[in-house]
Amino acid sequence: MTGIRLDAVSKVYGGRHLAVDNVSLDVPAGEVMVLLGPSGCGKTTLLRMIAGLEELTGGDLWLGGSCATDLSPKDRGVAMVFQNGALYPNRTARENIMFPLRMAGEDVAEARTKAAGLAKILGIDKTLDRLPGTLSGGQRQRVAIGRAIVRQPRIFLMDEPLSNLDATMRTELRQEIGAMVRDLNVTTVYVTHDQIEALTLADRIAVMRDGRIEDVGTPTQVFNNPATAFTAGFLGAPRINLMSATIQVTAHHRVSLDLGAQTISLPPTDRRSMILSRHDGVHVIVGARSDAFTPTVERGDSDQLLGTLRTLEFHGNQWIAFVDCGVEMLNPDLVGPRTRPPHDVTQTRHAAPRRSTLTSLARLLLR
Ligand code: ATP
Repeated sequence: MTGIRLDAVSKVYGGRHLAVDNVSLDVPAGEVMVLLGPSGCGKTTLLRMIAGLEELTGGDLWLGGSCATDLSPKDRGVAMVFQNGALYPNRTARENIMFPLRMAGEDVAEARTKAAGLAKILGIDKTLDRLPGTLSGGQRQRVAIGRAIVRQPRIFLMDEPLSNLDATMRTELRQEIGAMVRDLNVTTVYVTHDQIEALTLADRIAVMRDGRIEDVGTPTQVFNNPATAFTAGFLGAPRINLMSATIQVTAHHRVSLDLGAQTISLPPTDRRSMILSRHDGVHVIVGARSDAFTPTVERGDSDQLLGTLRTLEFHGNQWIAFVDCGVEMLNPDLVGPRTRPPHDVTQTRHAAPRRSTLTSLARLLLR
């Protein structure tokens, strides 16, 4: 089993376009690492560098403990699946899957057995004798995955393999890919901009932005304990509410958050009050997911955010309320590329134990 280490890796295209900026990342053997981020943030470039399809401009790549920076792609033991896994149109699904084994000199019977085994895992055992042109998009992509993995690569790389499929097919194949990579226990790097794919498939997620890694952690870590406002805003639907606030501490160590138009207080008994009480006057960003709010018409304590209901949207399994609180909700683009808020949420987290999440802080305040 082979792990991957990226050591201060960068990629500059055409002498000036910095696509990957000083990225360091460890993917232990057998792990499924998902690279998640908006279009153009450098995910594919990073994947292609691991595959050996792009040269590194700076840094080093290690595969299984050996430096692979200058290793040719064919010697890396890496298999890759693209958005449109191109198949040989005149070969059946079975022949497509068997092809890499036959090229490696494996005998027909052996190759057939391996192809049949994989086809079963991928749910295409009934379509093995059909030509690619007669298969659905999802079936073709399964064949492409089978063909990539049949030689038991040391490392399996997937670049948005589900992006051209319809929603039902995407869900189905996503589950099958998840089961397959776990069954085969192969180190996998999976690129997507779809947060559901990332959250469901990953052992760990690396959130990328502008060629850099913004946050790395298990799905629950990056969702519940986002390292930055960007990660908080990128994960979760409906999108998290991000509010600009200043910490205020009274003489009696009561902590409140001044949101401009409103101030909300933390219960003094809460341990987060203790942590925040050391940061009087510090500007922070408060994140609160919509499920952190419990709407009420009762006027209660100072931990309530007051607002006027503007719109209710029906989302099938839930209603989303848009409430005007007179508080500035930060435009997601503000905390996106280029502009960083004065004090990022990381500032709060540095001072706080990891469990003091931005989200649960808001929940506490707003419940
Ligand atoms: P997407 O999700 O849209 O595929 P991505 O996150 O995979 O995007 P990359 O394809 O890695 O992003 O591209 C990163 C940046 O590098 C982009 O700004 C892109 O325009 C640029 N880029 C990619 N390939 C090349 C190339 N061959 N020459 C010049 N610039 C490139």
